[in-house]
Amino acid sequence: MKRICVFAGSKAGGRPSYREAAAELGRLLAGRGIGLVYGAGRNGLMGAVADAALAGGGEVIGVIPDSLMDVEPPHEGVSELRIVRSMHARKALMERLSDGFIALPGGLGTVEETMEMITWAQLGYHAKPVGLLNAGGYFEGLLAFLRHASAEGFVQPENLDLFSAEADPAALLGAMARYAPPSHIRMRREIEEG
Ligand code: AMP
Repeated sequence: MKRICVFAGSKAGGRPSYREAAAELGRLLAGRGIGLVYGAGRNGLMGAVADAALAGGGEVIGVIPDSLMDVEPPHEGVSELRIVRSMHARKALMERLSDGFIALPGGLGTVEETMEMITWAQLGYHAKPVGLLNAGGYFEGLLAFLRHASAEGFVQPENLDLFSAEADPAALLGAMARYAPPSHIRMRREIEEG
């Protein structure tokens, strides 16, 4: 994997273990020569993963819509800042630049972006691995909900294999490296960056 897109909270959350996991992931990506693509923020876990990747000498590409530049001021130290016209364009560019996606703990934005990448995998728009970094068990509730959705007949059981969840960043990267899209997924390509 050449670049990984990380979705992460614009806030740091209430436990030090979240920030530690973000920093460990950033160090690990830089150490393995894997570039970081992310939402360009300087605060919260977004800032923590970027700071650690930059400190480790890694490539960091921030992608932000121009409408958010004043709300979420971008990190000034990134290797490259890509300013796009919309949230949709942001996600499409993040997807195109990346070979996989990782969710760190985060809020509505993080969950939305992560679920979108899983649904794009389900639709065959990409065949890239998605991983939830389950630091401190943060994603247990979401994982339980997705199992419930499957048990209730709304999510095909094979589609629970479209993502991995691990508490340890190195274990998560290992699981993602082994990912192969489930055989029932038919690939198609129609993402507009608009
Ligand atoms: P949060 O997890 O709510 O702290 O948000 C993390 C990041 O997700 C922020 O940089 C938001 O700008 C971004 N975000 C929120 N909603 C969307 C969306 N619909 N598409 C793309 N990025 C989003």
